[in-house]
Parts: sequence; structure tokens; C-alpha cells
Amino acid sequence: MTDATQLAANWAVVRRRVDEACRAAGRDPSEVAILPVSKTFGPEAVRAAIALGLRRFGENKVQEIRDKAAALADEAIEWVVIGHLQTNKAKDVARLASEVQSLDRLELAEALDRRLQIEGRSLDVLVQVKTAQEETKSGLPADELPTFLTQLRDYPTLRVRGLMTLATLSEDPGEVRACFRQLRELQDRCTAEGHELPRLSMGMSSDFPLAIAEGATEVRVGTAIFGSRLKA
Ligand SMILES: *Cc1c(COP(=O)(O)O)cnc(C)c1O
Repeated sequence: MTDATQLAANWAVVRRRVDEACRAAGRDPSEVAILPVSKTFGPEAVRAAIALGLRRFGENKVQEIRDKAAALADEAIEWVVIGHLQTNKAKDVARLASEVQSLDRLELAEALDRRLQIEGRSLDVLVQVKTAQEETKSGLPADELPTFLTQLRDYPTLRVRGLMTLATLSEDPGEVRACFRQLRELQDRCTAEGHELPRLSMGMSSDFPLAIAEGATEVRVGTAIFGSRLKA
């Protein structure tokens, strides 16, 4: 469902719910950005979102960014990689993305830096930290974060801006919230150690109010904006 009218209505609802969650948490709504996640939706859905004034879009597959960037070459779009990234995709990412939120290992940092130097570009990056117990969730183990952040200083093309996480899939809001709180505590700790990490990307359609309560500066919202995805 990517009807432009529906999309506009969905966007207004999400923006209002984000603002409400901010007020409930005693935060200024201007502190929390919404990253629309357009994965699985085609260029026409992205175009409809652009008509609403949006221009940053989250995607989890590099091939999809390639296809959409080609179809939307006339638009100024910032593509944000939010999915697990294979090292052999670094070349396309360096060429097409404006930001990577799923940086989770040194090998990937090295590959991105090498390709970015060739392209003469730099990228904003967030380090994805594993806060959920599920084996399937990717991300850097939390105890490795301080060392990793120090190692990233060797890659000048990567501008580290903060942290990202995916919460556990649970019916229990307490368990979900604990993941977000852990990311916030890691931010505090690493900031105290001298790292600059102003951004926290956490929360999706199902759990963004909890993430905002715990300090998210950015929520990644797909379904609630674009509609439900057909299972791949
Ligand atoms: C798909 C995805 C989202 C958005 O999920 P929704 O439940 O559709 O809002 C957020 N973050 C990541 C990493 C994703 O892959």
C-alpha cells in the first residue's frame, strides 16, 4: 500500500505519535528525527515520500539502494544503510550512501575507508551494538565498544556520530526498554571516556515510544509509514 494519500496520513500519525512520546518523556520533539525505512517499497513510494518533504531513507540491502538510486537519479536523496553489511558491498556503499548505521566490525570499517578514499568521500556512521540476546541479531558485543571506538579513529573517512541498536522481539515492554537503556548507558560511558556520540538510533514501528523514553535521537520507522511489507 503506497497510495500517496495514505502515505501522507501515515506520516502525519507517526510524526504526532513521536511528538507525543517526546512530551510524555519531557523532551523537545525537535530532538527526535524520524528515519523513514523504505526497504521493499519501490521508487514510486519513495517519490511520494519525497513529495511530503522527506529525503533521507533507510534501506537494509545495498542492491535495493542501487536500483532505487538509479530510478530516482533526478532526486537529491540521502540513503542510509541500516542492515547487515557484507564487506564486498563497500564499493557501492561508498558511492551511493550518505550514512551507515550498521557498522559492527573492524573489517567493514577498513573496507569502507579504503573505498571512500578512492571516491574522495566520507560517511557518517553509527556503530550498531548488540543489546538483544537473539543469535540472529547482529551488532558489536557491548563490551567491545570502547576499544572499537578507539580503533575507528584510524579511519578518517568515517565520521562516527553515535550508536544504533535493534531491541529484542518481546511482548514484555520491560525487556525491550532494557535494550534501549543499555544503549543509552553505553553512550554515557563512552562519552565520558572522550568519544563524541551525540546520536542514538533506536526504536522501530512497534517500539519507538519506549526508545524515545530512553533517549533515542532518531527512530527508524518502516511499516507505520509505508504499510506492511510482504514477507520476503
Ligand atoms: C526494517 C527495519 C526497521 C523498520 O522496521 P518497521 O518495523 O517496519 O518500522 C528499522 N530498523 C531496521 C534495522 C530495519 O531493518
